[in-house]
Amino acid sequence: MVVGTRDDADVIVVGAGPTGASAAYHCASAGLDVLLLEKAQFPRDKVCGDGLTPRAVAELVRMGVPIREQDGWIRNRGLRVLGGGHRLELPWPELSSYPSFGLARARTSLDQLLAEHARGAGAKLQERTSVTGAVRDERTGRVVGVTARPVDAAGRRAGEDTVYRAPVVIEAGGVSARLATGLGLAKREDRPMGVAVRTYFRTPRHDDAWMESHLELWSGEPGRSDLMPGYGWIFALGDGTANVGLGAVSSTAAATKVDYKELFAAWMANAPAEWEFTPENQVAPVRGAALPMGFNRGPLYGNGLLLAGDAAGMVSPFNGEGIAYGLQAGRVAADAISQGLARGTAAGRERALATYQRRMKDDLGGYYTLGRVFVTLIEHPQVMRLCTRYGLPRPLLMKFVLKLLSDCYEPHGGDWVDRTIAGLSRIVPDA
Ligand SMILES: Cc1cc2nc3c(=O)[nH]c(=O)nc-3n(C[C@H](O)[C@H](O)[C@H](O)COP(=O)(O)OP(=O)(O)OC[C@H]3O[C@@H](n4cnc5c(N)ncnc54)[C@H](O)[C@@H]3O)c2cc1C
Repeated sequence: MVVGTRDDADVIVVGAGPTGASAAYHCASAGLDVLLLEKAQFPRDKVCGDGLTPRAVAELVRMGVPIREQDGWIRNRGLRVLGGGHRLELPWPELSSYPSFGLARARTSLDQLLAEHARGAGAKLQERTSVTGAVRDERTGRVVGVTARPVDAAGRRAGEDTVYRAPVVIEAGGVSARLATGLGLAKREDRPMGVAVRTYFRTPRHDDAWMESHLELWSGEPGRSDLMPGYGWIFALGDGTANVGLGAVSSTAAATKVDYKELFAAWMANAPAEWEFTPENQVAPVRGAALPMGFNRGPLYGNGLLLAGDAAGMVSPFNGEGIAYGLQAGRVAADAISQGLARGTAAGRERALATYQRRMKDDLGGYYTLGRVFVTLIEHPQVMRLCTRYGLPRPLLMKFVLKLLSDCYEPHGGDWVDRTIAGLSRIVPDA
């Protein structure tokens, strides 16, 4: 039974991961009353690679998050790629739209930092509050709030359900998207889905200046089995440890039979010795999670509810990156909401809120469609083999690939590589 108080806000944000924190920060900065509900208590862990591309860095800069190294970050210069007997270092491109460095930071610390940043801007952050469902207007069906319950550190109920009301609600609850799912907004089965696992190791190379990726993940015996459509990563964290993991992608949401922990153990058995990834140096268990890709849930706006980040399947099918897109979605959602709430009429508000989906799809829809084609190609082990063997030694091709896969290209102008990717993303429809 729902009992309890009414806590009015202009906007309720469900989930204080990077997406929710960004939405809350930007809404609060625009002068809105924000209630940010988070079921966990910070600091909390999130299974992730902890790597931020220049695209994500640009979003942090927009939020005014301090990103100097003395603020607890480690910078990286680009990507070191290993595969097919090749090893090359690809610096992040020099562009006007993005910085030419990436960052890394463990999510236990990153997410707390971002949530505190949102709080600093005026958002009311309420931890240990698990959102259990939507409150809908009986007449119109519009989402006008949420029900939530206090929970303890283990996630167990710790009090009575409460209703919180607001004219707009943002679902930023991550891949489980409990609120959206409860409203019948199921994930699309025809969108790519990734699975990834990771752990942490102590390593003498904890301050390596490159994000390292290993393109050869063998499904069985190295050289004699199939190449998996994915990659392994080593992201140095500068604190004595590195985040080490691997992920693979499938063009549909159908479950695969791959045992990722076994795959990880096989990769570690062959990992370069200089990293010292020994059992004694492993400081965390291998944990895994799903990566929802290519806008696998929608609509992004309808009936008072906006979906953002993993809850909307915004992870890139090209590289498994989701933080940059969550931060972007939070910013664009906040803009649409602040414009909408200033309109004064319901029709005006809805027109402004509808721009959220349009802007996200205009920016990423074509690119994600290309990403889906990419996934269906690399699902063929022969294609993966050809790419690693013949693609890696070609510097010009790799420059193109780095910009394409990391979504770091000049959207307007730039060199021929930028213009080709931007042109392709524009002509390919969001489907
Ligand atoms: C192994 C792995 C490696 C990855 N590596 C990278 C990487 O290196 N770089 C990158 O950019 N991306 C990476 N990703 C993807 C990235 O982790 C996600 O895209 C990103 O976390 C999405 O942020 P989010 O805020 O949308 O969701 P989340 O980070 O999942 O945050 C959701 C928040 O909502 C809260 N919540 C959930 N349900 C409720 C509820 N009912 N009530 C209240 N609160 C709730 C959760 O506790 C959580 O704090 C990786 C993913 C995996 C699985």
